[in-house]
Amino acid sequence: MKVVIALGSNLGDSQSILSDAIDQIGQSVDIQVVSKFHETIPVGGPEQPNYLNAVLIADTQMQPLDLLDLLQSIENKAGRVREERWGPRTLDLDLITYEELIMDEQLLTLPHPRAHERGFVLSPWFEIDPQAVLPGYGKIGVLLQHIAG
Ligand code: ATP
Ligand code: CA
Ligand code: CA
Repeated sequence: MKVVIALGSNLGDSQSILSDAIDQIGQSVDIQVVSKFHETIPVGGPEQPNYLNAVLIADTQMQPLDLLDLLQSIENKAGRVREERWGPRTLDLDLITYEELIMDEQLLTLPHPRAHERGFVLSPWFEIDPQAVLPGYGKIGVLLQHIAG
């Protein structure tokens, strides 16, 4: 199964936090390609430091909820503390797509319900897969043009 994972960090040494997270993800899934780390200005939430964001594409046999568990355990190991919504964090790992799967549960919504409007997800993703389609929303290149305007 092809999956797209978005990574973000804006607390601590974000560069190494993202690199370590990628290493850990790579122990359980087969990573195909990783974007560069993009520095981005926070969208929503309180005033907070800039983020480093990246996107990776991987191949896995894991089930969606098991993959979410894995991502959350890696977040926890990086010292993620859940305080206010969209507040600063050492590590955020979001599952953006799992093949073409569409599911709408609070625990796991696929595709990620806000990915289509987020430049910090779509730009790194576009860098590594310019033809990608966000199931239910269309080509990410087109989505990017809409939010860039
Ligand atoms: P946002 O979801 O807007 O990016 P966030 O990443 O800060 O905000 P979190 O606090 O990290 O939100 O996650 C809240 C919950 O979202 C998680 O406990 C998880 O169960 C749920 N969730 C639903 N869909 C997804 C998904 N596609 N990827 C990751 N978490 C998801
Ligand atoms: Ca997020
Ligand atoms: Ca998250």
